[in-house]
Amino acid sequence: MKAAVLTRDSLEISVQDVKKPKPSKGEVIIKVKNFAINRVDLILRDSWLNSSKSSPHVLGTDFSGVIHELGIGVSSIKIDDRVLVNPGISCMECLSCRKGEQSLCNDFQILGYGVWGGAAEYVKVPAHNVLKIPDNLSFELAAAAPLTTLTVYRMLVSKARLSPGELVLVLGAGGGIGTIAIQMVKVMGGRVIALTSTEKVQQVKELGADFVLDYKHDLDWDKKILEFSQGVDITIDPVGESTWEKSLQILAKGGRHVVIGVTTGTLGSTHIRNLYSKQAYIMGSYMSNNREFVEAMQFIFTGQIKPVLDSIQSMERLGDGIEKMARNRHIGKLVFTVG
Ligand SMILES: [Zn+2]
Repeated sequence: MKAAVLTRDSLEISVQDVKKPKPSKGEVIIKVKNFAINRVDLILRDSWLNSSKSSPHVLGTDFSGVIHELGIGVSSIKIDDRVLVNPGISCMECLSCRKGEQSLCNDFQILGYGVWGGAAEYVKVPAHNVLKIPDNLSFELAAAAPLTTLTVYRMLVSKARLSPGELVLVLGAGGGIGTIAIQMVKVMGGRVIALTSTEKVQQVKELGADFVLDYKHDLDWDKKILEFSQGVDITIDPVGESTWEKSLQILAKGGRHVVIGVTTGTLGSTHIRNLYSKQAYIMGSYMSNNREFVEAMQFIFTGQIKPVLDSIQSMERLGDGIEKMARNRHIGKLVFTVG
């Protein structure tokens, strides 16, 4: 089958023939229609030289398609069902998994990163990771949805426990996480301050953000926020180092800072007195559990949240797409078509 792969021969991503997977017990084979990339695809590309993963490696964390083949014991889904997939794979046997906290599993893997992903004609996944999609949801939107939506859902609902009326600061607002976070906060009755770059301001406004600040021009964005608010109740942070101190500084009393990524670096200093005097929380979040995945996808299935598509290109353009993400030139999701 055709697949977009990293190999030991080159740092370039290329489309090559690789072996079509066969399903084991409890697994299904999906014929892929579309796939989308996430930050983990970029991280893998950039760390490939030092990686111990076997070559070739098929990329693609998010994807949609139709059920092509069923492994033994699979009865939850039928051939030709239209589906999307939870990209988090766990052992389903350890204590964390049995407690329903799959992303805390020591064997947790992300499709396309730890194991072969969906940038291919066919992909093998556990049947319990698969969810049928409504007839009116396109394969392109279905492929763009899973990783960012499940991540934002865990951050806002399970971790930060967003209440209606609360003020949420979305950092990196033009990215995959940010564009979903703005929409989900609005659906849940919150108010959004979005921080983004100049060229993304207009599109971020159109997503429904109540206030949009341009970090390239509003260098004192933290002071501006405190001019019209008592601080923010929740910060959604996929950025890390560059905004760390300011975003903790402007937390309201009882505020929650939820960090999901470190696109600008991993170190930040924390004003400890501020933290305890405000009784604030700093929380890490990562992917989701299986229940949260199903609940998060309802926002997509009902049309309450619509992933923003930066572009839809052929799978041969995957390398260019990952480079675009590296340069932060994208708004929303980069989607690719197989075939
Ligand atoms: Zn486990």
